[in-house]
Amino acid sequence: MKPATPAVTHETAEIDLDRLRTDLEALAKIGGNLEHGGVDRPSFSDADMDARRWLMGRMAEGGLMPHMDAAGNVIGRWGAGDGPAVMIGSHLDSVPRGGVLDGTLGVIAGLECVRTMMSFGFTPTCPIEVVATSEEEGRFGGMLGSQALTGQVDADWLYAAKDDTGIALVDCMRAQGLSPEDTLRLGRPTDSIRAFLELHIEQGPVLDRKQIPVGIVEGISGVFHWSVTLKGQANHAGTTPMEMRNDAFLALADFAHTIPDIIDKAGGGHSRLTIGKVTMEPGFAHTVPGLVEFSLVGKDLDNAVMERLRVACRSGVETAGNAHGVASSIEEISWLRSQPCHPDIIAAFHRAAGQLGIETMVMPSGAGHDTQVMAAHTRAGMIFVPSVGGISHAPQERTDWNDIALGANVLLHTAMNLTSAPCRG
Ligand SMILES: [Zn+2]
Repeated sequence: MKPATPAVTHETAEIDLDRLRTDLEALAKIGGNLEHGGVDRPSFSDADMDARRWLMGRMAEGGLMPHMDAAGNVIGRWGAGDGPAVMIGSHLDSVPRGGVLDGTLGVIAGLECVRTMMSFGFTPTCPIEVVATSEEEGRFGGMLGSQALTGQVDADWLYAAKDDTGIALVDCMRAQGLSPEDTLRLGRPTDSIRAFLELHIEQGPVLDRKQIPVGIVEGISGVFHWSVTLKGQANHAGTTPMEMRNDAFLALADFAHTIPDIIDKAGGGHSRLTIGKVTMEPGFAHTVPGLVEFSLVGKDLDNAVMERLRVACRSGVETAGNAHGVASSIEEISWLRSQPCHPDIIAAFHRAAGQLGIETMVMPSGAGHDTQVMAAHTRAGMIFVPSVGGISHAPQERTDWNDIALGANVLLHTAMNLTSAPCRG
């Protein structure tokens, strides 16, 4: 006689990895890039909208009530009443030639969590909403869907935004039957969302290198973006003695060399400084470079550290310029403050991982995510699973299926724990 299978309970519930994988593989075909692999689902493209309609179908089959809002967000709701919901999700749009997990994993894992809860009769004490946000990746600027849900869309920006081929965001939305006007009215009352949970691939090498399956994100790094100009004097490379030059490139090189020192003195373990783009004039092999423009992007989790990096970089650029008789000027293109994840949600992820015996580490997110927008509105938090080789935003983006299962189970148990307690707004 076969022993009876013990009934699944809150404590023993696990997501169905085959069902999750089947959905991820089906989604990978929508906008799938046949030549390079991966997906092309830029926001509000036909493929992006097809993926959203496909998701609504899967939600309806799973017993959720799906709808698409004016900004293209797909929301599937489950559970009684119109009380505040625990929201689980991420985005469905991709960068051009992107990977199949970025964003998508968090959406499908959210759906899988709800299906698992339904399958063994779990009754949440408040509604759960699975959300697929729109235009997260930044074809037009990024985070539009989550900003709409939290009432943070700037009308001037919305009506002016264009992609890098000059297509206006509003035209693109209207062509897909969405409404820029109504997008400005989508903001949910703060008391209608109880928490926001996001599972995402790490998009960096840390978890993979350390062989840890789940990262609990403590916060999303702030970022400053500068354009720095160094103005020296272009001159003949043969007739101008070395000590009589105003070489703008050497000033840049000096500054670049001081970056480790700046991080040592003003920064910390989470600090990042990157010179990602350089242009030189006249850019001729036989001429001393007279003009250099470069980008400087600084990141840290701590806003006070960001301020210190700002001061140290400013003085570093000036010192390097002065050493070569080169005038320096700095234009600050943007400054985004860091956003901590909510301590309640961080604790809830720790608790769930502890119950499941899954090893975790606490880490910052160096990339931007919907969680940072949602965090301004509700208790928001996110977890990472490893990116094999640290690769993302590329067709080679991959996560071991076992790690996906572990991350999704931490998400499941976190959501169940949060919706087992009495609803308290
Ligand atoms: Zn993403």
